[in-house]
Amino acid sequence: MKPAGLPIAVLPSKPPTREELRAQVRARAENRPGVYRMHGPAGEVLYVGKSVQVRTRLLSYFRAARGEKAAEIVGHAHRIEWEHVPSEFAALLRELELIKRWRPPYNVQHKRDAAYCFVKLTREPAPRLLVVDAASNDRALYYGPFTGRQRVRDALRELCDLLQLRDCGAATPIRFADQAELFPRDDAPLCFRGDLRRCLAPCAGRCTRKEYLTAVEFARRFLEGDADRPLAILHARMDVAASRLQFEYAAELRDRAQRLLHIRDELVALRGALDTLSFVYHVPGHGGEDRLYLLRRGSVRAELPYPVTQGERVATAKRVREVYGAPEPHLSSVPPHRIAQILLVARWFRLNPQELERAYPPERFLDVRQSA
Ligand code: SF4
Repeated sequence: MKPAGLPIAVLPSKPPTREELRAQVRARAENRPGVYRMHGPAGEVLYVGKSVQVRTRLLSYFRAARGEKAAEIVGHAHRIEWEHVPSEFAALLRELELIKRWRPPYNVQHKRDAAYCFVKLTREPAPRLLVVDAASNDRALYYGPFTGRQRVRDALRELCDLLQLRDCGAATPIRFADQAELFPRDDAPLCFRGDLRRCLAPCAGRCTRKEYLTAVEFARRFLEGDADRPLAILHARMDVAASRLQFEYAAELRDRAQRLLHIRDELVALRGALDTLSFVYHVPGHGGEDRLYLLRRGSVRAELPYPVTQGERVATAKRVREVYGAPEPHLSSVPPHRIAQILLVARWFRLNPQELERAYPPERFLDVRQSA
């Protein structure tokens, strides 16, 4: 996303003193929303921050007491840059963009990311479900984010056992039954899960490629809230256990079903939340620099100046139709490059629910614009 204005840079010929840095901030920074960054001796970005009052915030660094983080950052800074943006919301987005780009050592953003985990459905000949720290652009499917790594791990273990998906390493040799002629015949699974029928054992030619991918498809549809096959398996086992008067086992199966259901419900709720974060958001800006944010499924798909003239209104309406008219899969998976922004946007509206008063469904926005 483009910043609202050009960065204002302070470029000294030799390392400035703390007093010189402060004087430069005093002379040039304005009290309006913005994003700033502190650079180290080699020009590296040490820290990125934002404020609705950039000048006041930057000057506060020079008043920080010894031992405070702000004093340490400014003590290492050889250069300070800042850029003004129209609003607090714009500053939040820009700060995130810069933190993701530079990963500054004094920002804790990536540490906050570490609290989340994701379920990854790999794209391998025999795909696996894994719990991973972060989503990446590797064409795999990601579900989440979740908190509570162990409970996610437990639920995945259940899902894999029920659908008989493998959980071994990527290097495990795979040979499906319909490829048997290509490999020496050896029917022994490479681990106990195959012997216990908790895995279809594609390592030992115990299933065809189609059988394995059908099980993977059941897992995918379950995670997306479209099918309940794993729960149906558990319920059938519960019925059998109850009919044999194995009530303890039936109760254990019920608890396992609950854990699985909980994870699935979280994903469905996430999908619902994403769907509610789809609207045209009007943000009044500093000095009349109003902006429109076209939010779809929680991420900003376009940022536009608020239209004033008839020509601008026509261009804006065209862009709104493009953004909201494009087909979008209704999945519980989130594209990895959008996750951080979705979390930020969701948090913004959770903490500032009054902001939703300036959020318009796209069709209503177009109606109002056309009748204006
Ligand atoms: S049985 Fe084979 S494919 Fe299944 S988890 Fe074990 S090693 Fe992997």
